[in-house]
Amino acid sequence: MTPEELAGTVDGLMDGLRADLVRLAEIPSIAFPGFPDGPVQEAHDLVAELLRDAGVPHVERLDLPDTAPVVYGEIPPPDPGAPTVLLYGHYDVQPPGDEKLWRSPPFEPAPIDGDGHGEGLRARGIADDKSNVIAHIGMLRAYGGRPPVGVKIVVEGQEEYGSAFDGYPPTDPDRFACDAMVIADLGNLRPGTPTLTTGLRGAAEVVVEVRTLDEPRHSGEFGGAAPDALLVLLKALATLHDVHGDVAVEGLRREEWAGTSYTEEEFRSLAGVREGMPLIGSGGLGERLWSGPAITVIGLDAPGVEHAASAVVPYARAKLNLRFHPRQDPVEARGRLVDHLRSLRPFGVPLTVTPGDTGPGYEAETGGPAYRAALTALKEAWGKEAAYVATGGSIPLVNGLAQAAPGAEVLLFGAQDSMCNLHAPNERVLLSELRDTVVAMGAFVREYAAAARGGDGSRA
Ligand SMILES: [Zn+2]
Repeated sequence: MTPEELAGTVDGLMDGLRADLVRLAEIPSIAFPGFPDGPVQEAHDLVAELLRDAGVPHVERLDLPDTAPVVYGEIPPPDPGAPTVLLYGHYDVQPPGDEKLWRSPPFEPAPIDGDGHGEGLRARGIADDKSNVIAHIGMLRAYGGRPPVGVKIVVEGQEEYGSAFDGYPPTDPDRFACDAMVIADLGNLRPGTPTLTTGLRGAAEVVVEVRTLDEPRHSGEFGGAAPDALLVLLKALATLHDVHGDVAVEGLRREEWAGTSYTEEEFRSLAGVREGMPLIGSGGLGERLWSGPAITVIGLDAPGVEHAASAVVPYARAKLNLRFHPRQDPVEARGRLVDHLRSLRPFGVPLTVTPGDTGPGYEAETGGPAYRAALTALKEAWGKEAAYVATGGSIPLVNGLAQAAPGAEVLLFGAQDSMCNLHAPNERVLLSELRDTVVAMGAFVREYAAAARGGDGSRA
C-alpha cells in the first residue's frame, strides 16, 4: 500500500472508527473498587468483538488474578521473515470525578470544536485510552486483517487502578515475544506535532515523621523551649530544594534533555500557573520535568487551621513523591532521599523515615529498525519530523513488557495529546489526531516489514 493509498483507506474508515469509539466510550468501564464490574466486562467483550471483526483470527480472554480480563489477540506473521509487532492499549478508564465540572455527561460522548484543531469528541476515557484501542483496530481494518507483520495485541482492563498485570508478562514470555511493541497509551506533545515518547521518569514514595512530645502543650507556657514537631518537619522539608527550587538531595541523576519539550508558555497554560507566578527550578523544561529529579510534598499531617489550638504540635508527618531520571535505579534513587532525611537533625531532632513504593523509569533504545520505521511513519502521517519527548507519568507495564521481550524495540506513541484532559474533567480526543495515528500505525507496520525484507516500504 502506498502512502496515498493508505491515507485514502484510512479516510474511508474514519466514520466507522468514530462510531465504534463512541460505542466504546459510552461504557463506563471503571475498574476501581466500588464501581460495578458489568461495564468492565462489557467493554472487554466489545473490544474482543471489534478485534474479531477486524480479522484477528485468534482472540482470547486472559483471566489473571486480581485484575480485569485482558483481551489478547494474535495474527501470525504473513511470511517467516516478517517481524512481529505487539500492540498495547487499555479499555478501562479513570472515574469521571465531579460530574458538575463536565460540560456534558462523561459517558455520553459529545462532539466538540477542538479549539482550532478541528472536530473532537468529549467523554471520559475517549482519549485515555479508548482512542488508541480504536487506532489499533483502524490499522488492522486498513489491511483487511492482514497487516504485513505478525501482530500480538494486548488490551488490558485495569491499567488505571494498580493492575496485577504489570508483573505478569515476564512470567509468560512466549506469549509476549515480539520484535517491536507499540505502547499506545499516550500521544503528542501538542496537537499536530508527531511525538515519540522515549523516556519515563521513575517514581518513589517516602514518608517522614517526627514525634517530639507525648501530647500537645500550651504554646504560651511551653512554646520557645518544647520541641515543635511541625517546625522540625518543615525545617527538614526546606532542605530538599535549593534557593532556585532545584532538588538539593545529592546523588539524584540530572542531565540535559536532548529532545524536544514544551515552550514555557505551553507549560504555564497546561499546568494552570497563575499570572505573575514564576516557575521553579533552573535549566530547560525537559531537564526539570524529565531528565532530572523532582520532589513533591504530596501530603502533610498537621493540625488544620480551622480548629487549631494554641499548642505546640507533638507529631507531624509528610509524604514525599520523588520522580527520578529514567535510567537511575529506583532503590538507589529512593535511598538517596532516605539518606538525606536520615542525616538531618533539625534543632537536634532525628526524623523517622520510611521508604515506600518505587517504580522504575524507562528509557528506550532509539537506534534500531523499528525506530527508523516509526520516524518515517510519523512524518508520513503528520507531515512533520517527529519530536522525542519523555513524560513524568509512569506506565509500569512498559517495564513488564520490556522484561518479557528484552530484545524488542519499544515505541510509545498514540492519539492522545497533552491538551486532552486525561484523568481530568472534560477529557477529549481530536479526530484529526485519531486519523493521523491510524495512518502512522499503518505506515509503521509497512515500513518495518519492508526494512525486515531489506526493501523500500512504499513500493511493497
Ligand atoms: Zn492510559
